[in-house]
Amino acid sequence: MHKHGRKKTFGFATRAIHVGNDIDQDSGAVKRPITMANSYALPYDPTDVNWSSAEGNLYTRNGGTNQKYLQERIASLEGGEDCVVLASGVAALSGLFFALLNAGDHVIFSNVTYIAAYRLLNELFKNKFGVESTLVDTSDPANVLAAIRPNTKLIHIETPGNPTLTISDISAIATIAHENGALLSVDNTFASPFNQRPIELGADFVIESLTKYINGHGDSMGGAIVGKTEHLDSIRSQSQINLGGTISPFNAWLIMRGSVTLPLRMRQHNENALEVAKWLEAQPGVSFVAYPGLENDPGHEVAVRQMSPGFGGVLSFGLKADHNTHNRFVSNLQVITSAVSLGHDESLIVFLGEKDERQYLYPKRFSNGFFRFSVGLEDKEDIIEDLKQALEKCGLYE
Ligand SMILES: *Cc1c(COP(=O)(O)O)cnc(C)c1O
Repeated sequence: MHKHGRKKTFGFATRAIHVGNDIDQDSGAVKRPITMANSYALPYDPTDVNWSSAEGNLYTRNGGTNQKYLQERIASLEGGEDCVVLASGVAALSGLFFALLNAGDHVIFSNVTYIAAYRLLNELFKNKFGVESTLVDTSDPANVLAAIRPNTKLIHIETPGNPTLTISDISAIATIAHENGALLSVDNTFASPFNQRPIELGADFVIESLTKYINGHGDSMGGAIVGKTEHLDSIRSQSQINLGGTISPFNAWLIMRGSVTLPLRMRQHNENALEVAKWLEAQPGVSFVAYPGLENDPGHEVAVRQMSPGFGGVLSFGLKADHNTHNRFVSNLQVITSAVSLGHDESLIVFLGEKDERQYLYPKRFSNGFFRFSVGLEDKEDIIEDLKQALEKCGLYE
């Protein structure tokens, strides 16, 4: 309707509210409803219907209304032509790899990524389907260039990387990919499209775990692949319709609702995380803080170039203490919850011990065990006070 014609020229916050929403034709409601149907009425003569088509409303695995609204919004926020939403971030990662990669192809990927990306590329696609892969420290683009082979089809990076916050230069790596006939995908989950838009920096695909910042309230799961229509049509057909990792209309609706406040929430996550990172950095009991917003962070210079207005809400840090003291510190926290996931309204912390199977891939300062800390939207004074009293109880506050 009238709202949609000019949507591309509107600012981020306006698009986060309006794109994908419209007046409901049936009721006049100002919010589109949830359609909890798995099937849609067929035409008078259905014999010409393509049962594997994503066009029109046919069957919810092929695409339903709430999925479509969410796809429209995420594509707009990421600055991409098209989007496929699936049941989880991992469904988006595996859906992209499944649609794109064939036996004999080669993939280069960041040595610090979400664990499932590592498993898919380092083990499953390699061992089951004969897709070659090379793990690379992508924080230096020269390492990417050195790993290129004639059959390199895809470069997959995560920046900031989970859990070390390692930063990779998106536009430099996009140039390397395109000069060598490869495609670039970027997992943008830690930054969210509010802080970083990889497609504008030259990436071909963006992956988002919608479970995290875009939903933002810790109450549903989803994933997105954003890119060009020519690629996305094939991904939709192979990985949505034929693999079937469909998102439920209810979760798509929840994520749509959460995404409305993404700009407001991210501004506060950015502010809280930077303040907490600076506070932690000044504590004698803290061994290190990894956060791209800190001026002495190894990724800071590149992060300033490609992230704006902020650096996201996740940081990692360690204590000058043994394994058990790390656990004791967490058990003393009263505001911050010990749980996996990130990007929720509430602060979440997870202790990643020194025996993590991927320790050998992390920078040295992570080798004694560390915390991944998703700084929430609580008052930052309360977050800092919580950290302070827990340090005190461990004898680590001076
Ligand atoms: C959580 C996460 C994923 C996986 O998303 P799910 O929604 O949990 O499947 C992928 N990438 C990153 C960077 C993540 O943090």
